[in-house]
Amino acid sequence: MEAKVTAESARKKAELLAGGPVLLPLGFKPPFPPSRSTAGPGTGYPELVFSFGGTRVRKAISRESGDFLLRDDAGTLSILKGGEPFIEGAELQPTLLHAPFQAFINVDSRCAYRCVFCGSHRLEPHATKDLTDDRIVEMAVNASRERGFTGVALTSGVAQSPAETTRRLAGLIERIREALPEAPVGVEPYVTRSDQIDSLREAGAEEIKINIESFDRDVFEKICPDRDYEMILRRVDHACEVFGRNKVCSNIIFGLGETDETILNGVRALAGMGAVATLRAIRVSALNRDDLDRTLGELRPVTASRMLDLAREQKTILQDHGLSPLGFKTMCHACLACDIVPFWDV
Ligand code: SF4
Repeated sequence: MEAKVTAESARKKAELLAGGPVLLPLGFKPPFPPSRSTAGPGTGYPELVFSFGGTRVRKAISRESGDFLLRDDAGTLSILKGGEPFIEGAELQPTLLHAPFQAFINVDSRCAYRCVFCGSHRLEPHATKDLTDDRIVEMAVNASRERGFTGVALTSGVAQSPAETTRRLAGLIERIREALPEAPVGVEPYVTRSDQIDSLREAGAEEIKINIESFDRDVFEKICPDRDYEMILRRVDHACEVFGRNKVCSNIIFGLGETDETILNGVRALAGMGAVATLRAIRVSALNRDDLDRTLGELRPVTASRMLDLAREQKTILQDHGLSPLGFKTMCHACLACDIVPFWDV
């Protein structure tokens, strides 16, 4: 199957993902406030989503320095790289809540776990503004009234225990489904038991993301010291039985010292269960840099060509298993902004 965008757009997206922030021109005022994620790759920093050539990319923005420069010619935006024209006709893509077209809500950024790559638990304890369940439902309903709304997704840190967090997520999903019966709902929990997965499905979630984070066992043990590799894989497998094929996804973060072969074996293992990997290049920021250095030593930056090559290999594996990220209605595969997405970008 052909990609939805040209090879040139895919390469430019990969270069943007691999590079540093976009420097905004002096006095530039984005038409809407930049988003500041409390979960996900850009946690804690102001970011904007740029769309161009039929794809989109989420980028950290800066008023001081950057690898890319935004140019604003009377409202026509372009992006320069190394002072040279790079992308003409870029547009700023509004995000509803965190992601374009979706209300993707981090219910609680507090987290008892110490995953090394994640910035969420390093945020102020009140980064999610002590969101109440009523407020979260209201946010989802308000977002559903916006143009282009496609669905709701919920994630959460583990404030006390996975059981407690899952109960809260299931309760919220039920309420959101009641208020928005037509809207697909995705959920990205940390689950430890199969019945937690069942409860999320019964509450009305259609899609689920259970992250394995790394298929390199040594890397996994270092970056997720409080989590259990085998248990996560068993939960992914169970989720595929309960949610169905092509309804379950799982982050594999790369750029942590693992080999491409390990990553692709992971993609195959997940696909064998019916799950689609989300291949995500590590984003190093002030929030996780020291911990990553201490835990893994100096990391080689992920290159644009590695991102593209892995996504192409992933596409072949998914094709062999009759799977595709384009079947997802919520979360990262539907959002497209942080990764090279097989079948869309390559
Ligand atoms: S791809 Fe995922 S993490 Fe990135 S902006 Fe979209 S929903 Fe958030």
